[in-house]
Amino acid sequence: STADLGVVGLGVMGANLARNLARHGHEVAVFNRTLARTERLMDRYADEGTFVPAAELADFVASLRRPRVAIIMVQAGPATEAVIDALADLMEPGDIIVDAGNTLYTDTRRREEALRDRGLHFVGMGVSGGEEGALLGPSIMPGGTAESYNRLGPMLESISAQVDGAPCCTHVGPDGAGHFVKMVHNGIEYADMQLIAEAYDLLRGVAGMSVAEIAEVFRTWKDSELDSYLIDVTTEVLSRTDPATGGPFVDAVVDAAGQKGTGVWTTQTALELGVAVPAIAEATFARAASSSAGARLAVRNASLDAGAQPPALDEPKAREEFVAAVKDALYGSKIAAYAQGFDEIATASQLYGWQVDLGAMARIWRGGCIIRARFLDDITRAYDEEPALGSLLTAPVFASALEAVLPAWRRIVATAALAGVPAPAFASSLAYVDQLRAERLPAALIQGQRDFFGSHTYHRVDDPEGTYHVTWSAPERVEEKWA
Ligand code: NDP
Repeated sequence: STADLGVVGLGVMGANLARNLARHGHEVAVFNRTLARTERLMDRYADEGTFVPAAELADFVASLRRPRVAIIMVQAGPATEAVIDALADLMEPGDIIVDAGNTLYTDTRRREEALRDRGLHFVGMGVSGGEEGALLGPSIMPGGTAESYNRLGPMLESISAQVDGAPCCTHVGPDGAGHFVKMVHNGIEYADMQLIAEAYDLLRGVAGMSVAEIAEVFRTWKDSELDSYLIDVTTEVLSRTDPATGGPFVDAVVDAAGQKGTGVWTTQTALELGVAVPAIAEATFARAASSSAGARLAVRNASLDAGAQPPALDEPKAREEFVAAVKDALYGSKIAAYAQGFDEIATASQLYGWQVDLGAMARIWRGGCIIRARFLDDITRAYDEEPALGSLLTAPVFASALEAVLPAWRRIVATAALAGVPAPAFASSLAYVDQLRAERLPAALIQGQRDFFGSHTYHRVDDPEGTYHVTWSAPERVEEKWA
């Protein structure tokens, strides 16, 4: 038993994670349900480091030094569950089982509790960066006990992405905290992608720019606060010409966005926690709307008179101003979307007692992961300066950025609506800012409505602790204090 740790599941992600560990000098035990995959890894990459291949799970476990560490990288759901059960039966108290797949944090909490009762550490670990990240340096978000991190952390930090000499890996918090943060990371990723897509659509549908011109615009935005991996990806995709048609690649792709479920989880969880994440929710709904082939066809065929009033942007100067305004709207929306995601993490952290360091989350997202961006430095700094920040929107750097972009952002949302170009994430992010900004919200009216038809009661401005009800159905309609 000499291996420092082991990897179970040598698919795309698992094989690359094992290779990354071996390349960093860790002795890695490897096991896969289908032996051929283990053999393929050994045939191709054995010389990259020290691997200990096993054909049986029991031999794999026996090859690990104590306390044992086994990282599972198989399909989420029943496959992961089965592998956890099999490993747990072979392991001993003090050993560590790591689920590195995308697992819903509530499943992680349940499994952690069950394994804790058997003396085992269970770590739910988020890994971002896709195939290439797993090999060259992902962003890693491990949950579980601090004790398990002492054993696991140094190895993970050695293989994660590094930015400014700091690893993109930290102990997120107990039980499901790591998987929760990874889930919200993906939700923010959905929002970021949708916002960029809306910016593209406005430049094309309202300003009438060509795809090549828009690619150039995104290229220039890289030299700004918008600089991010997703902006780079967008520039690359928009710059591609389709060999079959000779036209833009983006026009050769069916406009129905796929999804594997983490946006849905982030939105569902936010609804359960009572946190507003409209940009993430709209991004998830937008993918669903794009894939609603039947409804899209029916409404398109109905040829509604949309009453659209697109602005005239023929003058180069008008167009230039429009492009700059779209950029402002994109930046403002991005701030709002990240504020929503961080609020979701803060709320769960409070509820479950995770004590997640929000600034550290921004720090470990600066490299390796899909949402890596210059902007995350500002988020880290904001939480360093004020750890108890009520909302990212109030950090001085973002508050002043919002003041600068809000006028243009409002014009863009209004213009999109007039032109009939959908911009749900831009619009809902703006509404989010306006809701949080408002002195009074119409929620007071909703409380009145609820009290009228359901006796749901309300609190008074001059007595916020008291509970009141109006006898709406009685002719005199008097106010009663119920508690
Ligand atoms: P692959 O499809 O490439 O590999 C799946 C692996 O799971 C194979 O090793 C397969 O073994 C194994 N497996 C499936 N069912 C079982 C089972 N019942 N018992 C034992 N082993 C089983 O998947 P990926 O590597 O892409 O993804 C793995 C995990 O990583 C998923 O949870 C995914 O959500 C997560 N993830 C993926 C990312 C990505 O970019 N792809 C990014 C971040 C996380 P066999 O060879 O025997 O079929």
